[in-house]
Amino acid sequence: MKNFELYNPTNLIFGKGQITKISTLIPAGSKVLVIYGGGSIKSNGVYDQTIAALKGFEVIEFAGIEANPQYSTLLKALEVIQSEKIDFLLAVGGGSVIDGTKFLSSAAMYEGDSPWDILANRIRTVKGMPFGTILTLPATGSEMNSGAVVSRAETNEKLAMGGPGLFPQFSICDPSVVASIPERQLANGVADAYTHVLEQYMTYPTEAHLQDRFSESIMQTLIEVAPRIMKDPSNYEVAANFMWCCTLALNGLIQKGVPTDWSVHMIAHEITAHYGVDHARTLAIVLPNAYHHQFDKKKEKLAQYAERIWGISTGTVEEKAKAAIKKTETFYQSLGIKTRLRDYTDDYQGFAAKAAQSLQDHGLSKLGEHGDITPQVAEKILEMSY
Ligand code: NAP
Ligand code: FE
Repeated sequence: MKNFELYNPTNLIFGKGQITKISTLIPAGSKVLVIYGGGSIKSNGVYDQTIAALKGFEVIEFAGIEANPQYSTLLKALEVIQSEKIDFLLAVGGGSVIDGTKFLSSAAMYEGDSPWDILANRIRTVKGMPFGTILTLPATGSEMNSGAVVSRAETNEKLAMGGPGLFPQFSICDPSVVASIPERQLANGVADAYTHVLEQYMTYPTEAHLQDRFSESIMQTLIEVAPRIMKDPSNYEVAANFMWCCTLALNGLIQKGVPTDWSVHMIAHEITAHYGVDHARTLAIVLPNAYHHQFDKKKEKLAQYAERIWGISTGTVEEKAKAAIKKTETFYQSLGIKTRLRDYTDDYQGFAAKAAQSLQDHGLSKLGEHGDITPQVAEKILEMSY
């Protein structure tokens, strides 16, 4: 096991009716900017609950953060933060709203010329403007981690940022919100969280037995809840299990003491940057072929995963490992997610080379747990994913 530090200061408040607590969590006298997306919170009651709970605070709103939050929109929110002298940010939404808020938390304290540099130059945020979140979509784990991803449509870029200053001070996770999530986003949530676990689990070498079992328990639970939540998102108990899985998949716990991969995410971001495909779907396009490409290195761990998650106990290591990749692809498909780039666009010829160049240009040239996924390897994986 590798050395590790476990630091996670987010106060996670989980369960029914917890939104009312925000008034005790935001420092008294704060001027609060409530940040949200395209309006789902207005139709499912979360907006009304939030505004009621903020009674006594001075509140300004910023709406319109889009899926895959756009830099140009965030710059408008930054202007509001500055002109209104905001001192606390409250994100109400899914990963996009929370990630956008993390960018704003960082940009509000940034002293350089252009806040895009935080992303382009991978500047770690040590201190950001304080913020909390009300999660409306279980998927990313952003509610309890210190990472964010921001897109810039004009330049086809989608880049990650982070740092110890970007943990939410609190996150309210009320599984009742799941009832209003459309099927497409439920599928995305399951697929994203499942892939987060794989990015931390499917690595080598590891002798981290407890972390393996933590990861396996999250994957097993996601496989169990997936068909049930897709069938009936208003089932509170199933929603609660789904939501807790998504948070635990990426709150730092399962990555302690192990090498982590993340090449699937980094390669997949290029697909969203170029074609606007939903984040989770891009992972389903890339992951099976990333594992085929890395087969010799990952096959022992793939065989363990085959046995423990998919109950495949016969065959050679290679046979089990291959079957496990197939099972994973079939799992994505069982959620209604297509696993080939050509299922999303006709205009894919030549994309792999462009994506490889973009990874190179952004200094993402040594991906994977051993830094051996070069842009050339990423190009090959993407070609295999057409
Ligand atoms: P999202 O982009 O935040 O939301 C997708 C859609 O779901 C939006 O149209 C939103 O509508 C709707 N929605 C959200 N909650 C809803 C609810 N309760 N009922 C009905 N509709 C609801 O989706 P996401 O998957 O959570 O976030 C994806 C982003 O997170 C990507 O940019 C991805 O790269 C990033 N990400 C971040 C991390 C991290 O650790 N920080 C990890 C993985 C991915 P409204 O806009 O109307 O609310
Ligand atoms: Fe993700």
